[in-house]
Amino acid sequence: MSDLFEKYDVAAPRYTSYPTVPYWENAPSEKEWIGDIEKALENTSLAWSAYLHLPFCESACSFCACNTIICHDHNVEASYVRAIQSEFLLYLDRAPELKNKPLRQIHIGGGTPTFFSSDNLQRILSPYYEKLDIDLDCIDASIEINPVFAKIEQLRALRSYGFDRLSIGVQDFNPEVQREINRSQPRHVTEALVYEARALGFKSINFDLIYGLPGQTQQNIKCSADTAIELKADRIALYSLALVPWIKPAHNELAKTAPKGREKRALYEVCRRAFLEAGYVEIGMDHFALPDDSLARASATKTLHRNFMGYTDFRSELIIAIGLSAISQSIGCYHQNTKDLDAYQKAVMSGRFATTRGHMMNDEDKARYKQILSLMTCFEVELESEEQEEDAKHFLSSLLTDGLLRIENRKLYLTEIGRPFLRNACMFFDERLRRKAPETRVFSQSL
Ligand code: SF4
Repeated sequence: MSDLFEKYDVAAPRYTSYPTVPYWENAPSEKEWIGDIEKALENTSLAWSAYLHLPFCESACSFCACNTIICHDHNVEASYVRAIQSEFLLYLDRAPELKNKPLRQIHIGGGTPTFFSSDNLQRILSPYYEKLDIDLDCIDASIEINPVFAKIEQLRALRSYGFDRLSIGVQDFNPEVQREINRSQPRHVTEALVYEARALGFKSINFDLIYGLPGQTQQNIKCSADTAIELKADRIALYSLALVPWIKPAHNELAKTAPKGREKRALYEVCRRAFLEAGYVEIGMDHFALPDDSLARASATKTLHRNFMGYTDFRSELIIAIGLSAISQSIGCYHQNTKDLDAYQKAVMSGRFATTRGHMMNDEDKARYKQILSLMTCFEVELESEEQEEDAKHFLSSLLTDGLLRIENRKLYLTEIGRPFLRNACMFFDERLRRKAPETRVFSQSL
């Protein structure tokens, strides 16, 4: 098995979208973007999702690959709050039907969302709750939390808006590993936050862990996994360290000492074993959940979904993402805001969308998107024709021979031992990548 990790550890997309971002080629005009949203809103049973991106962090973790702004000056909050309020109102003005369709899911990500004071978090959220159709008992509302920068009054404010899920960035509980990645987060701080959140009524707590960090060993990562189990995380995301030094130069340093190849994969396997023995269910590519968690139920009933926020149990045809660099998705279109803070604030404050890029999907994109989504969430996918089956046998011959995939009755299945190679298998459906490999490095390694 360990040889397979060397063989298939290639640069590969994570497939949170299709086409993947480097292959987006035709950014929608405002008319096209709003037109696609309106088309989605024609569906009488549509419920939509909202994403809010709050990009500021007080210190930089060296492994981070997100769009963040490192900043200690909290004066930036006020102008950013005004900007996202304006962008939200811009959407309601251009697509007023949004007000008549229920908002079922809201997620706040970052950055460090709790960089913002509880008053400002309320200023950000209240327009949604004042102007939209939101049922507090049904809304799936979640936020990313760095325990070091979160206060009880922020959690309390979020609870009053129906937030009952937290996604806590842990990465690793070991202080030595934390030092390596410039992220000091004592266990007792995380533990206290979990305790307080549960006491306030947060029902689902996710821990993000990362394997492949410098300083991690099979022994110390097992302790981190055991701590996550002990604290009864409802969900655990165990991400592979994604090194993208061409975007984040700090990753060059990490690459020198981070475990690689089979050594790195062994770290994943140690945690995986610990989670399965503790009763967690393995979900998708790198997630685990307690059996009564909604993500585990969605996985069991094959209703799991995947989008820019990762795996989710709610599938919406429309995600309106607000904020710097935020990516929205409608039925046939992706739309991303600029990553330049000044340009973003100027655009939305003067009544324009802050579009930087996007993609209008053609019929082939839509078909491949569905197939990749099916493989990513259910580990199986219908092949659409005899021709595609023949192509799969040829393109995937090595993975098929190694027993990582099988084809039966014109369906492609990922086998149990094939799970680590999911991204490799998805590349078969990535027509754009197959037609033209990227000229520079744009994707992290698959394993
Ligand atoms: S707190 Fe989160 S978003 Fe900010 S630098 Fe660290 S990992 Fe990145």
